[in-house]
Amino acid sequence: MKFFKKVFVAVLIVGGLLSFFKEFYWEEFSNVNIIELSTEKVRESQILATSSAINLAREVASISARQKLEIKTENDFVVHVPVLMYHYVRDAVPPTEELSYHLSVKVAELDRQFEYLSKNGFQTISLNDLYESLVNRTPLPPKSVIITFDDGYRDFYQNAFPIIKKYNLRVVSFYVGNYTNYPNYMSWSMLKEIHNSGLVDVQSHTLSHFLLTKISPDERRREIFESKRLLEEGLGKKINYLAYPYGDYNEEVVNLAREAGYRLAFSTRPGNTLTSSEQLFLNRVVVSGFDTLETFKAKLSK
Ligand SMILES: [Zn+2]
Repeated sequence: MKFFKKVFVAVLIVGGLLSFFKEFYWEEFSNVNIIELSTEKVRESQILATSSAINLAREVASISARQKLEIKTENDFVVHVPVLMYHYVRDAVPPTEELSYHLSVKVAELDRQFEYLSKNGFQTISLNDLYESLVNRTPLPPKSVIITFDDGYRDFYQNAFPIIKKYNLRVVSFYVGNYTNYPNYMSWSMLKEIHNSGLVDVQSHTLSHFLLTKISPDERRREIFESKRLLEEGLGKKINYLAYPYGDYNEEVVNLAREAGYRLAFSTRPGNTLTSSEQLFLNRVVVSGFDTLETFKAKLSK
């Protein structure tokens, strides 16, 4: 009997230790690729209303189909400014991993692209400039371009930030507010450093990178409002701009973004025609790992 008691206690202790490590390490490692868009890697909790990763993949694929909200006004004002959208800046992703490769621009390639922009008279304008232009029709400089990096990966700090400083370009980092403790994302001190450089405008990419049309109204509100508050408090600046995770939005999402006080919000719908009536679901142009300097140049003039 005593023997079984001992075995029982030992099982309890080992079980407890295992579940502790599982909690601890699962958090640590499972978040590394959370928003890689590689859906099989998406955690259970990220899937939310969708019942499986396959559903999520279908969902993401169908987003662009319903991205167009038909809101047109008579006094629409249009500017043509490419809003470039980057994700990872890193080497060593094999082209066979198509999605990761697509979302990863190599370090030397980013250097070439930024060198091209700076040597050919492109002006990296701010989101405030764009807002003033769309709303108050303030003229923009010729060859205006906006550079955005989504998600706030640590490789932005390690690989992109030095190149941004080298060419003295202005960029936007759309950051996922709740990710400051994850190893693959920028920490608060990194965010403060890039913000203090005066070259990087840190703005919101929500709190948790959920599909905003697929979560409850309460969660949706929290993702949009709290990310703004959190970054404003942490960085001591106004957060006026938002990028929707996966480019996913609908009328309800847009109305919440407006209510929260965002001046502009960005989708992933392709194009460089920006329209004042679409100020809360603006187009962007993805820069892909498959881009050559030639295709990159073409994206600037489309
Ligand atoms: Zn994202």
